[in-house]
Parts: sequence; structure tokens; C-alpha cells
Amino acid sequence: MDQITRKAYAKINLGLDVIRRRPDGYHEVKMIMQTVGICDILTFRKSGRQDGAVTLFLDKKELPCGKENLVYRAAELLTRTHGLRDGVEITLEKRIPIAAGMAGGSTDAAAVFHGMNELFGLSMSLQEMKDLGVGIGADVPYCIQGGTALSEGIGEILTALPSPPAAYLLIAKPDIGVSTKFVYENLHADRLQSHPDIDGMVQALERGSLEGIVSRMENVLETVTVREYPVIQTLKDIMRRGGALNALMSGSGPTVFGVYKTREAAEASRPAVEKSGMAKEIFVTEFV
Ligand code: ATP
Repeated sequence: MDQITRKAYAKINLGLDVIRRRPDGYHEVKMIMQTVGICDILTFRKSGRQDGAVTLFLDKKELPCGKENLVYRAAELLTRTHGLRDGVEITLEKRIPIAAGMAGGSTDAAAVFHGMNELFGLSMSLQEMKDLGVGIGADVPYCIQGGTALSEGIGEILTALPSPPAAYLLIAKPDIGVSTKFVYENLHADRLQSHPDIDGMVQALERGSLEGIVSRMENVLETVTVREYPVIQTLKDIMRRGGALNALMSGSGPTVFGVYKTREAAEASRPAVEKSGMAKEIFVTEFV
């Protein structure tokens, strides 16, 4: 096997609650994670070098290609942990919006675990990969698992859930940068007025009720981001007026997604978002 290609899918949060800030500064969360059909593409090949070197090729200038890239860090961690002599060359084709709240970096790192496991015949189980992956980032274990999941703790306690019924998504990334660190630092978990009904959403997923799911879509991080960046609320309103069953910000933002019954409905809502000029990166996709 000379070369392996893997798709790294983005995620959205159908619900996101923060329970408390732990004494060590991490936030304890309770989130419903959902893989969606926007993906990066990673290609892995052995470089022929015998020094265990990691080389990363990128098609986006704005991303680092050294140690700050999560792809590089995941590949180096695997090389070190497994004492690999063979060097690896990785090509990353970036399509997921960057710093968007869609776990772009984490899902790339997850693809490195799967891709190198196969290329080098490492025989790691899913659990072994997830245990190593949390060292790269809190969302990496979920991205290794994928699908629909309840995520607790700092993101490392995962419970697989049934997929939601088929629905379509309009996803728009406003042209602003939102730092995850800023959002969490400005969240007052102890002063939140309301908390999302995550348990109710889990039950709705188990019942296969799209109505039960969309009626519980809520993200406590909006209490920080919407105040700071009103464009997020405006995009949600445009999507709802345009026929979305509901609309929400994903993760720490700024990406907004609307959920629609049909692909036609999602497509019909797209021109209003385009016309607003608030987002250049716009996608119609579905749950994976
Ligand atoms: P999350 O939803 O996990 O908070 P995000 O979607 O908000 O993630 P990313 O796209 O993962 O954010 O990017 C956050 C930062 O991480 C970027 O500013 C970038 O410099 C850095 N980064 C490192 N590696 C990657 C990668 N492979 N893809 C994207 N960003 C990366």
C-alpha cells in the first residue's frame, strides 16, 4: 500500500451546554455532536526517508504547516509513540471553513490517526486512537468516532447516539474571526439564565423525531458571541424567515446552520444569505 486518501468531515453542534468551569480552567460541557457532509481531503504516503520525519503540504497559505498544525502534531505523536522509522508525507486539501466552530483542525487530526493506522499497519483499535487523540485536542476523540454523539466531560466522554432523521442544512460562515479562547473566557457558566434540554434532545434522537430535535436546538456560547457579533443573530433570522425549521450557531462560532426538511427548501433559503453579504462561505449539505 503506497498511498491512502481519507475524507475528514466537519461537525456541527445540535446542542451545546456548559455545565461549569473546572478549577483547572477547562470547561465541563454537554454537547450533541453531528458529522456533516463538508470535508477536507488528506493523502498519506511513505516518504522513503528513514528518519521518521513528518512533511505536510497545504493548499491554504493562512494555515501553518509546521508544529502548530494539528495534522503535523498528530502525525508526530503517532511516529513517536510507535517508533516509526519511515517518514510520512501528508497533503491536506482544506475545504472546511477555518476557525469556524466546525472542528476543522480536530477532524484533520482524526483523519491522521485513521490514515496512518492503515498506511503503517499499526492495528490501533478505535479506543486506542481516541485515548491518544485527546492529547491533541478535546474534540479529537469525537472526530475519530464520528456520527452522532453525546459529548461530556471536556469532550472526551462519548456516547454514540442514533442518527437524526434525514434533513438538509444551509451552513454559512460569517466573514469574521472568533477566537474559541475569547468565547470561553467571556462565558459566565454560573450566571446562565437557561440551559439547553440536552437530555430531551437525546430522547428525541432515540425516538427519531426531527421536530423534537430542532425544537431543542440551543447553544449557550451564543450568549457571548451574539452580543459581540450581531451578524450571527441576523444570519439565524434570515434562515428562519427563509424556511428553516430552526437555526443555530455551531460550537464557539461564528458558523450558523439552518435545518430544513428538503434540499429544495435549503437551496431556496440560500440566495437571501448570499444577498446579505454577511458570509462568503456558504454550503448546502446534510447529516453524515
Ligand atoms: P473548534 O470547532 O474545534 O473550536 P474551529 O473550527 O473553531 O475548531 P479550526 O478550523 O480547527 O477551528 O482552527 C482553529 C485554529 O487552529 C486556526 O486558527 C488554525 O491556525 C489552527 N489549526 C491548526 N491546524 C489546523 C488545521 N489542520 N485546520 C484548521 N486549522 C488549524
